[in-house]
Amino acid sequence: MKKDYSQIISRVYADILTRENCGKVPDYIPELACIGENKFGVSFTDLSGFSYGAGDCSEKFSVQSISKVFALSFVYEKLGEELWQRVDVEPSGTAFNSLVQLEADHGIPRNPFINAGALVICDILLEICKDPKQEMLAFICAVAGEDSVFFNEKVAASEMQNSYRNAAMTNYMKSFGNIKSQPDAVIDLYCHLCSIELSCRQLSKSFLYLANGGRIPGSETHVISISKAKRINAILLTCGFYDESGEFSFLVGLPGKSGVGGGIIALYPEHYCIAVWSPKLNEKGNSYRGMKFLEEFTTQTAESIF
Ligand code: GLN
Repeated sequence: MKKDYSQIISRVYADILTRENCGKVPDYIPELACIGENKFGVSFTDLSGFSYGAGDCSEKFSVQSISKVFALSFVYEKLGEELWQRVDVEPSGTAFNSLVQLEADHGIPRNPFINAGALVICDILLEICKDPKQEMLAFICAVAGEDSVFFNEKVAASEMQNSYRNAAMTNYMKSFGNIKSQPDAVIDLYCHLCSIELSCRQLSKSFLYLANGGRIPGSETHVISISKAKRINAILLTCGFYDESGEFSFLVGLPGKSGVGGGIIALYPEHYCIAVWSPKLNEKGNSYRGMKFLEEFTTQTAESIF
C-alpha cells in the first residue's frame, strides 16, 4: 500500500508545534533578525508531482546557504571534474563560516557548502558567466518551474555590510591564488545568491532534479548528469549541515542542506524532496524545528537512504 505522506506530515507538524521552539534567529545579518520566529512551514513534493504542504509553506523566505547547491550544480555541470582542483569534497567538521582550515589546506576549501567553498564557486561563476546573477536566477527558475525568482536586495545589502568574515576568507584565498576576481565582486555575488527567496513549496519542487538523476521530472531537461547528481547528493549527505552533518545523517538519514534563513531541504533519491522552514537556529546554525521535524518524519515513514 502507498504510504500516506500527507497524514504523516500533518501528524508530525502538529506534534512539533506542541513542543518548545528553541534556538535563536541569527542577528549577524540584521534583516534576517526581523522575521517572525514562530513561522513554520513544510512542503513535500514527489517525482510524480504530488505535493502536500503544512503551515507557512507558501511564504517566501531567505534560502541563504541552500542556494550553494544551485550554484554548485551550475558550475559542476559546466566545468566537470576540473572543479575539484579548487574545492575539496571532505566534511569540514567546523562551522559554516570558519577560517581555521584554510591555512593548512593552502586556500582550498574543504567542500562547496561551507562559505569558503561557496565563495570559490562564486569566483568561478564570475569567470565563466557573462551575467552570473541573471544566469543563476534563470537556472533556479528552470529547476523550480517558476517564471521569476528574485534577490532580496535589502537582505543582500544587510549581509554585505556585515561581511567581514566572508571578506577575510575571500582575501585569504586570493593570497593563495584560489580567487581570480576582485574580492568585492565575489562577495557581492555570494550575498545576492544567499538572499534569494523561495517558499517551501518552491524549494521542494526545485530540488527534484537531484532526486531524479539530474533531470527535471516531466521534462527531458538534464540539469546535470546522473553521475554528477549522485556526487552532489553524496556531498549533501556528508557536508550539508556543517559540523552537524553526521548528526543529520544519523537522525534523518537523507542528503540535505540547511541555510541560516531557517530553511532545510532534504531529498530521498528516486522518491521525493521535503522542505521545512522555521527561523530559530540551533547552536550549529541549523533550523531547530526543521531538524526535529525531519527526524520525526523519517522515523514515522521508516524510510531513509540507509
Ligand atoms: N549568507 C550566510 C553567511 O554567509 C549563509 C550562511 C548559511 O546559510 N549557513 O553567513
